[in-house]
Amino acid sequence: MLIEMKSTNEQCHVPSGTGKALIAANLAVEVIPEVKKLEPNAQFSVRRGRVVGDYEYPPYIYGKCSTCGGNTVGEGPTVHKTMTLRHQGTCFGVPATPVPPHIQDEYESRRAAYKKRFKRFQPENGSAAVDRVRDQKVAAGLGLKSREQLIAEAKALPVPK
Ligand SMILES: [Zn+2]
Repeated sequence: MLIEMKSTNEQCHVPSGTGKALIAANLAVEVIPEVKKLEPNAQFSVRRGRVVGDYEYPPYIYGKCSTCGGNTVGEGPTVHKTMTLRHQGTCFGVPATPVPPHIQDEYESRRAAYKKRFKRFQPENGSAAVDRVRDQKVAAGLGLKSREQLIAEAKALPVPK
């Protein structure tokens, strides 16, 4: 532990048993090192969806905190209003950060522009089947594989003899 000798104001590291004895004898005080609290640094951006052939996935919002490494992605009609970036680790206890207004505006306008350009991919209504297809497209757009793809790949693996 780090202590400061009362007589000399000298600081030194000592085994905790020694330090406690010196403090108990009123010869020293413990020095608690000041822990610098890290400030959360959440940054959001609107990103272009992946382009595959003639299809472009919808724009999406990406958020990341450079302090704790927490990150999030979101896509959908209202995601800019609802999504939050959850902090972790070094930002423990920091409340989740919502999408800032200027990113909300940018997302709305880029999503509107996207919808104009890709009309044929817009579902007429939000049926569960349409939502599922859209979720799969979003997942694929983010480089994630669907359950079906993973199963198909597993089946394609050679069977061990
Ligand atoms: Zn954070």
